[in-house]
Amino acid sequence: MTVNPCLSCGRCAQCKEGRAYLCSRLGSIGFAADGAFARRVVCPAANCHLLPDKLPLEGASIAEPLAACLHAWGRGGGRAGEAVLIVGAGTVGLLLLQVARERGAGEVLVVEPLAARREKALALGAAAVFDPARDEDVGRTLLRERGGVPLAFECVGRPAALETALRASGRGGRVVVIGLFTEAVPVDFFRLFVQEKTIFASSAYTDAEVGEAVAWLAEGQVAWKPIVGGPIPLADILPAGFGRLSDAPSSHVKLLVDPTG
Ligand SMILES: [Zn+2]
Repeated sequence: MTVNPCLSCGRCAQCKEGRAYLCSRLGSIGFAADGAFARRVVCPAANCHLLPDKLPLEGASIAEPLAACLHAWGRGGGRAGEAVLIVGAGTVGLLLLQVARERGAGEVLVVEPLAARREKALALGAAAVFDPARDEDVGRTLLRERGGVPLAFECVGRPAALETALRASGRGGRVVVIGLFTEAVPVDFFRLFVQEKTIFASSAYTDAEVGEAVAWLAEGQVAWKPIVGGPIPLADILPAGFGRLSDAPSSHVKLLVDPTG
């Protein structure tokens, strides 16, 4: 099985209207409760999702970020045929790319500094990829050459990535922020005003979206093998896990940890 890690109270206004991911007492397994770097984990039964036999655990490991991407697609009101920009091709960016394609988006463009990840994006169906190191103002380039992209996703959590998404989204454009920002970022609200842009934050997912993500993975609507690496034994998590991801980010997107190892 896999688990929806959102822990909610079930009693507040948001929980009662079916938005438990906005619970006023929201916590999650791994933060508010012990996480899964252990042989055994206690989870509420209501948070558990049984996996179809044809979906291996390695594939199911990305049900949670895929649920976040399904939610983000809905937040941005993604429409079939519409061009989409994705800034950042890590786990979330590569999954969002596939969600956009599966939902019938038009061209999906990707901005990513790592060549290996740009190649993965192309292999997964991106119409074009851009290296922000070669074109510092790729957002302006997209606006000038393509007239902007009506829907952009910020999947990095850095000011430059948000600026690219905001700039590239044309007049009336929508920007969904799914990247995790750790500090406040200045935003030019005059530009938002004049161009009537909209920024949506997308933070989590409904339990139904977790179930939907499991079904998508089981039916092969999303490729997980280009994203999931490992597993590495728990005992080696510092050098072989976090160390490799920070020292050689081109080689891996996501590494699984085997808690029995
Ligand atoms: Zn609640």
